Amino acid sequence: MKPLELVVIGAGVGGLAAAIRAAALGHKIRVIERLERVGGKLNLLELDGFKFDTGPSLVTLPWVFEELFAAAGEKLENYLELVRLEPVCRYQFADGSGFDAFADLPRMMASLEAFSPGAGEDFNAFFGHAARAWRGSRKPFLESAIAGPWDFVKDGVPWMDLTALLPIPTLHGLAKRFFRDPRMRQFIGRYATYTGSSPYLAPGTLSTVLYSEYAFGAWYVKGGLYQIGVALEKLARKLGVQFEFGVGISQILLEDVTEGIMPDRKRFEVEGVELEDGRKILADAVICNADAAHLYTDLLEKQFDPRDKKLEPSLSGFVMLLGLEGQTVDLEHHNIFFSNNYALEFRQIFEDLTAVTDPTIYVTISSKSDPSQAPEGMENWFVLVNAPPTGRVNWQTQAEPYSNLILEKLTSYGVDIRDRIRVKHIMTPSDLETRYRTFRGGIYGTSSNSINSAFLRPQNRSNKLRGLYLAGGSAHPGGGLPLVMLSGKLAVEMLTEDFKN
Ligand SMILES: Cc1cc2nc3c(=O)[nH]c(=O)nc-3n(C[C@H](O)[C@H](O)[C@H](O)COP(=O)(O)OP(=O)(O)OC[C@H]3O[C@@H](n4cnc5c(N)ncnc54)[C@H](O)[C@@H]3O)c2cc1C
Repeated sequence: MKPLELVVIGAGVGGLAAAIRAAALGHKIRVIERLERVGGKLNLLELDGFKFDTGPSLVTLPWVFEELFAAAGEKLENYLELVRLEPVCRYQFADGSGFDAFADLPRMMASLEAFSPGAGEDFNAFFGHAARAWRGSRKPFLESAIAGPWDFVKDGVPWMDLTALLPIPTLHGLAKRFFRDPRMRQFIGRYATYTGSSPYLAPGTLSTVLYSEYAFGAWYVKGGLYQIGVALEKLARKLGVQFEFGVGISQILLEDVTEGIMPDRKRFEVEGVELEDGRKILADAVICNADAAHLYTDLLEKQFDPRDKKLEPSLSGFVMLLGLEGQTVDLEHHNIFFSNNYALEFRQIFEDLTAVTDPTIYVTISSKSDPSQAPEGMENWFVLVNAPPTGRVNWQTQAEPYSNLILEKLTSYGVDIRDRIRVKHIMTPSDLETRYRTFRGGIYGTSSNSINSAFLRPQNRSNKLRGLYLAGGSAHPGGGLPLVMLSGKLAVEMLTEDFKN
């Protein structure tokens, strides 16, 4: 295969993964990123000596990261230090009860038994089910292009594993089958949010998300998760990838390749890109890491949009970055404070499109594992609350009052930090939408709130334009760091297949 000239739109993790894999095959890559640095939603902020990861706080499926470095002939450990977290997370419920979750099964079962007799056994049975679903979906779904449910059959998935993949019931319905304690159902349901979805709507196949966390562990990156972006840029540059920051792509250039004198159907091919400053870059192919909604509404004409109109945006997030005086002894690196009424929380998000009145609160304090992240004796808090897609809430006026509501809610859990705050920075769904050009502020592209969502998500290769590929959370197989890396891998595999002659 002759070396190709490729443009990658966006230096998010999916774009970097695609650039690295394509460069490792000998292609010439230019990455154009409209922001000032790599990372996209994986980003950072430093305020008064406090270091904050502003996006991802948790690494799962570390082998996907290892594979990416290996594809470029490198070892992950020469670039990044992954730190395994145990407990994975401390969970607290509205009734004052709680447990620590461990990625070590016997420890997890013991912790759950102490929390609620029988819950350990229930978890063990659920985990077995989730393992079958994982085995059934890893190859045909996560690591392949997929057009529909029949691809699982085509891939020869064993019958037992296939039954674990049946999308009915919902994740919450599945949790009800396995768990007697309603608090455990809430805990299981939380894993739907890792795909930006509601546990009451998303299919039970999302048990695979829980499996991936407990089978392969929960990880932190020494120096903060943004080090992943730093490492990927370093590796890409080593492979000859060129970067340009601070300028966006304004359109994808097309060439009319219709054949015949009386063509009944026009055919187009990608010719390159035009930048916001008017420059044009010609390319053999373009890999788009920007959100598919941005690609198909702003960078191309409507006729090329394959997206299903039924797809709804994923969950968004309301983020508070807090620099705190002193130490909080009762909290772990990751903590969840569950809302009293989980069903209401998701109704407010996906039906009413309003800010949640009694939100589940996620608190990450990375300085607990890595003191370099905060001034001595202080803590860096990343606080995340599920939020609706943009459209109805006026976050300009609501951001400050909503942050106070979250602080009061934490106080009701006995965690009163209001007098300890030295630094406070808020990021709303509107900020996510404008900064990263995401579909209505969605963290994970589109939600998985229906049986078909996984198959309706844009594929990694355009079926209407030769030479256009998609790598990122809004394309198959979805959002989250490891999945967008796999998305980059699939895009490059398809490109290789298309240009091999
Ligand atoms: C608050 C928050 C918490 C999260 N927590 C986790 C977590 O704990 N674990 C986890 O695995 N994942 C988490 N995620 C999800 C994860 O961050 C994303 O799935 C992933 O980083 C998205 O990568 P991507 O490849 O889709 O690119 P994106 O990050 O979406 O980047 C796309 C890039 O394209 C650029 N771009 C857009 N338009 C143009 C244009 N026209 N020209 C040039 N450049 C353009 C953008 O500026 C951006 O840099 C979280 C996300 C958020 C926001």
